[in-house]
Amino acid sequence: MEKIKLGISTCLLGENVRYDGGHKLDRFLTDTLGQYVEYVPVCPEVECGLPVPREAMHLEGDPDSPRLVTIRTKQDMTDRMVEWARKRVLALEKEALCGFIFKSDSPSSGMERIKVYNEKGMPVKKGIGIFAKIFMDHFPLLPVEEEGRLHDPNLRENFIERIFTLKRWREVLERKESRGNVVDFHTKHKLLILSHSPKYFQAMGKLVAKAKEIPIKELYQQYQAILMEAFQLKTTPKKNTNVLQHMVGYFREQLSSDEKKELLEVIDHYRQEYIPLIVPITIIQHYVRKYDQPYLKQQAYLNPHPLELQLRNHV
Ligand code: SF4
Repeated sequence: MEKIKLGISTCLLGENVRYDGGHKLDRFLTDTLGQYVEYVPVCPEVECGLPVPREAMHLEGDPDSPRLVTIRTKQDMTDRMVEWARKRVLALEKEALCGFIFKSDSPSSGMERIKVYNEKGMPVKKGIGIFAKIFMDHFPLLPVEEEGRLHDPNLRENFIERIFTLKRWREVLERKESRGNVVDFHTKHKLLILSHSPKYFQAMGKLVAKAKEIPIKELYQQYQAILMEAFQLKTTPKKNTNVLQHMVGYFREQLSSDEKKELLEVIDHYRQEYIPLIVPITIIQHYVRKYDQPYLKQQAYLNPHPLELQLRNHV
């Protein structure tokens, strides 16, 4: 798989673009995830023409439609930022991004809970950074996260799983249009989809089952929309347990009753969050290899992202 393209707030890469001339280097993003992705850096404040260093800014006014204002001299930068951001998102369309990692707490780049100050100088944490809002409105289905939230193992695993899945889907889009390619992608991702949402799993199954009756462009569009919506729903131990138990059913013939009992106990320990997901997954992978189980061995659920990222060691 070629590298995944991800947009990122430039300061997270260690570039000295912050208002105070500093950066916010995040080593996990550069050194670990960076091995698998190609970053497209975006610094809204510098790219809209502001210098480094510069006066610090914050959001003011209506939290639903705040103004971007410098804190000391009260210069309103909103129009300048909005005009630049609208052009920038159009340019980013050409990059075929699989997601964006925003810098938290920034009035330009933060994607949620940004302080917005009222006329008395009191903040409410209800704003969205000006560029982040325009980006998310323009690309509503793209996976987005903040670097701070990515320190949470569950959010990290979910975000990275989504970008890798989107990359695999984009590879389908690059190939010749064919219903068979959609069906093939769906077949390999069935259990991964099920781990996010049994409801969407059913809806996608119905769509694929009537693929021959739907004009091909419509099939691609509908499938992509449901896929992205499904992956916005997070996996949970309960949903993963359902998938793991489902997988055990494929070894009905091969496993002894002791082996099956042991595997189900491990799955139950995972459900109770005594052990991480990687433990039952590793045992099932072992049986998949041992018995060359044809359906399971092609499931993206068993290998949704590189093992080296160790994402399932912590969820
Ligand atoms: S938070 Fe955004 S605007 Fe601020 S320095 Fe980082 S990339 Fe630039």
